[in-house]
Amino acid sequence: MVLISYLIMALCSCSGAQGEYAGLTAIKAYLNAKGERHRNVCLIPKSAHGTNPASAHMAGMKIQPVEVDKNGNIDIAHLKAMVDKHKDNLAAIMITYPSTNGVFEEDISDVCDLIHKHGGQVYLDGANMNAQVGLCRPGDYGSDVSHLNLHKTFCIPHGGGGPGMGPIGVKNHLVPYLPTHPVVALQLDKDACPLGTISAAPWGSSAILPISWAYIKMMGGKGLKHASEIAILNANYMAKRLEKHYKVLFRGARGYVAHEFILDARPFKKTANVEAVDVAKRLQDYGFHAPTMSWPVAGTLMIEPTESEDKAELDRFCDAMINIRQEIAEIEEGRMDSRVNPLKMSPHTLTCITSPNWDRPYSREVAAFPLPFVKPESKFWPTIARIDDIYGDQHLVCTCPPMEVYESPFSEQKRASS
Ligand SMILES: *Cc1c(COP(=O)(O)O)cnc(C)c1O
Repeated sequence: MVLISYLIMALCSCSGAQGEYAGLTAIKAYLNAKGERHRNVCLIPKSAHGTNPASAHMAGMKIQPVEVDKNGNIDIAHLKAMVDKHKDNLAAIMITYPSTNGVFEEDISDVCDLIHKHGGQVYLDGANMNAQVGLCRPGDYGSDVSHLNLHKTFCIPHGGGGPGMGPIGVKNHLVPYLPTHPVVALQLDKDACPLGTISAAPWGSSAILPISWAYIKMMGGKGLKHASEIAILNANYMAKRLEKHYKVLFRGARGYVAHEFILDARPFKKTANVEAVDVAKRLQDYGFHAPTMSWPVAGTLMIEPTESEDKAELDRFCDAMINIRQEIAEIEEGRMDSRVNPLKMSPHTLTCITSPNWDRPYSREVAAFPLPFVKPESKFWPTIARIDDIYGDQHLVCTCPPMEVYESPFSEQKRASS
């Protein structure tokens, strides 16, 4: 199966961010070789992942932000103005498709054409391939280079910042400019002129590649396509169930989202003194790890179910969110205190629930078992209650253990015998 219609994949970058850097250096080397060394402007929509501007900066490019319209798409009028303004020095655009706001941008091919027409290259941030594998190929709609986050779309577990892989795929004209390595010659082309090396190991985190390989082999072309379809279906199912209770911030022109969507929690600040973090903490009482918070829009929750959860689990999550909305409504309607309530006091630990004094205006049951599916025998107990995030961020504590911890049995023996 040809995944993304690129000619060559370079397996050197250990993360998406490194893939971006690798891809941008390939673009830079290509432009330099063409005698267009002066091209150094990189356009980046404001909805982009924070790694995009960081990588562009590291690759020596000058970042110019592009506005996003009210539906979360690139603001085409602003893009045109920016392209016109920077056409002489335009190096690249970095775009994410479907966008970080969870919509398939309908103008994606036009955006790519516009950049190419003005001498720039298109870097497509491939982190959202979960919505595309088997359905569409970035190379077809105009991208010159993309990374694939194998630790997102291709099954490598990536909790806790573990090893990742963000290989890049490029079109033919960029092949001679792919990164190289001093130990293993990676270049196929003897006239190659790469900009340099990306990571210490020639093939990045190669030890984890068999996971993606096995996943692709076991799923097959049909299975991978099915996974993308289910990921999109799951997101739309949840958006549909939750839209009666929360505002879904962005949608495509036909009212659908891609494989993820954003719920707006900002209005509750005024109506109930409730913020996204309160919803996120309260979800723990229902047994859920909170989704991405305040990204890409501050004060919101980004929900990305993927294809991995079954319908019962999606429904449990929606039920929890709907019940939380009702808890917010109780505060809004004055039936619950705006400072001491299940949201503000969440998450509830076992110590808190079993303490002899319970002076809250809601029951222990509401605190710990807010819906029937939260059962004592399978209850997840949060280990700590609310912490003061801002205080913690501003007061760093050194947890380095004292030197004695490193004392070996050998030195103790020596001391005993002397
Ligand atoms: C995750 C992500 C990245 C960065 O990938 P890392 O492996 O975390 O460096 C870049 N862009 C988007 C849209 C992402 O979701």
